[in-house]
Amino acid sequence: MAETDMHSHPGKSRPDLERRGLMFILSSPSGAGKTTMSRMLLTADEQVKLSVSATTRAKRPGEIDGVDYHFVSDAQFDAMIEKDEFYEWAPVFNYRYGTPKGYIRKGLKDGQDFLFDIDWQGTQQLYQKDQQDAVSVFILPPSLPELRRRLESRGQDSQSTIDDRMSRAQAEISHWAEYDYVVVNDDVDQCFVKVREILHAERRKRTRQTGLIPFVRELMG
Ligand code: 5GP
Repeated sequence: MAETDMHSHPGKSRPDLERRGLMFILSSPSGAGKTTMSRMLLTADEQVKLSVSATTRAKRPGEIDGVDYHFVSDAQFDAMIEKDEFYEWAPVFNYRYGTPKGYIRKGLKDGQDFLFDIDWQGTQQLYQKDQQDAVSVFILPPSLPELRRRLESRGQDSQSTIDDRMSRAQAEISHWAEYDYVVVNDDVDQCFVKVREILHAERRKRTRQTGLIPFVRELMG
C-alpha cells in the first residue's frame, strides 16, 4: 500500500509531501539473510526499487539476468569502468561487482527509493559520493555455526566456496560499526519488521522532505 499521512487529519488522508528518494543499503556476510530481507522489502513496499548490480560471476540456479544482476563478462565490465558507468564497484571474492549509476541519480530526484544489496566496500564508496541520500543497515547472523548452516542449506555453492565465504564472514562483520543501523537476524520476520521501521523513519527525515518548505510557507501565510 502506498503510504499516506493519516494521523493529522482523521477521516481525511493527505498524500505525503514531496520528498527526495533514498539509497537504502543492506549489507551482511553471505548467508546472514540480506537477500531474503531484500526480496521481502521489494514485495511489501512498492516505493522501493532494487538497484541491479553488474557482476562478472556466473549465474546461480534460479537467478535471472537483468533482475538479480546484469551478468557480464570481464571485458564488458572493463568497458563499463572505462566509460565511467559505475556509481561504485568493488572486487568481492574472485569476481567484480558494480552499481550502474545512470537511472539512480534521476530516480532519487523524483522521489524513488533504491535498495542496494552491496558489501562494505560499495557502502563506503556510496557514502563518499552521496552521503545525504544513503542509509545503511548491517545484518548480523546470530552465530557463525548458524551462518554456516544457512549457507549449506541453500545448496547453491560448493564446499570450498562455503569455506571461502565463512573465512570472509569475520572480515565482513568487522565493518559493522561503519553502518547507521545494525540488526541481528535470528528471526526472519522480526528482522524484517526492524528493517522496515528504519526505512519508514528515514523517509520522514526533515532534510528528505523537499515539500516541507513550500508547505510551511503556505501554512504560515
Ligand atoms: P553474491 O555473489 O552472493 O550475490 O554477492 C557477493 C557479495 O557482493 C555480496 O556481499 C554483495 O553484497 C556484494 N555485491 C553485490 N552487488 C554489489 C555491487 O554492486 N557493489 C558492491 N560493492 N558489492 C556488491
